[in-house]
Amino acid sequence: MATTPTPLSDQLLTFSPLSTKVQTSLLALALSDALGGPAEFKPRGTFPHISTMQPNRNFNLPPGTWTDDTSMTLCLARAITSPSKPPIPADQAKLYLKWYRAGYLSAIGHCFDIGATTRAALHIWEGAGKKADMAAVQQQVREKLGGRFQAGNGSLMRVLPVGLVYWRDLTVAMEVARATSEVTHPAGMCRDACAVYTLLVGSILGAVARGERMSKAQLLEVLYGYEFQDEELGAVLGRESGFLELPVESVKTSGYVLHTLEAALWVFFQTESFEEGVVRVVNLGDDADTVAAVYGGLAGVWYADELEAEGSLFWTEGVRRWREELVQRKVVEDVAKALWEIQK
Ligand SMILES: [Mg+2]
Repeated sequence: MATTPTPLSDQLLTFSPLSTKVQTSLLALALSDALGGPAEFKPRGTFPHISTMQPNRNFNLPPGTWTDDTSMTLCLARAITSPSKPPIPADQAKLYLKWYRAGYLSAIGHCFDIGATTRAALHIWEGAGKKADMAAVQQQVREKLGGRFQAGNGSLMRVLPVGLVYWRDLTVAMEVARATSEVTHPAGMCRDACAVYTLLVGSILGAVARGERMSKAQLLEVLYGYEFQDEELGAVLGRESGFLELPVESVKTSGYVLHTLEAALWVFFQTESFEEGVVRVVNLGDDADTVAAVYGGLAGVWYADELEAEGSLFWTEGVRRWREELVQRKVVEDVAKALWEIQK
């Protein structure tokens, strides 16, 4: 961390072409997920400091292996690049099931981890069969998994592609984001978290498209200007919350969507380069890979730059090394490319 923090009003959006922003942010999410994987399930302070790709001993995986967060993000990206626009719930469920059952878009050929709410939802979609009334299946998911205790971070962690594609109309973008949450995480708080995250991603891309050097202070105003539908989330992230001033001890990194989003945003606004933020976030432990993925997607859009750019706040030395070590990087890059191609 810089010794004297730069004021948020002086921290400006990195300027690079939209294509770079869209594609690099997906890679940023995968890098963050892979760096955080080894710290998942570990309470803060109980593991050696992480700043390089480590083996993931939770699942006996080599360094640089990304997890369900990236796989599901890639599945949603593929659903978005399919002919139906916006992606219909059944199409998304189909691709998530393909990952869960057959290892589609996974780092090692099969699914080795899945969240409890996601699994419960996918079992409902799967059990309904291909000929079922899909609106009725979605309703069943809503009824069974829409409670407050199911407000996990499983839909927030994968929602990045929605903002990357629908940024030209933020109202539509937020509607699509909420709808993608419903496929597995219909709780109001999950839907709201996906919408506000998409608003931030979309606002940054809008600024890039208009050639505006947005500051982090302006982005914070976007967050504070959002009309939260979920009161609890609004109380934690709204203007009056003062969440950016919280001491690290008060920032929780559990799988509860409220904790995940709060921690990811807290780190994003507290740090000044992509690498500094990822290292900070993964070392908070607990649901480290997912909080890192949520941070990484947003920070990727903000800092993303050309690989050869001088003084880049994205391509610092550590990040260049992580990139070399990322498992199945081409899989991520191909999906990212398709996400850009459809909007040219
Ligand atoms: Mg994971």
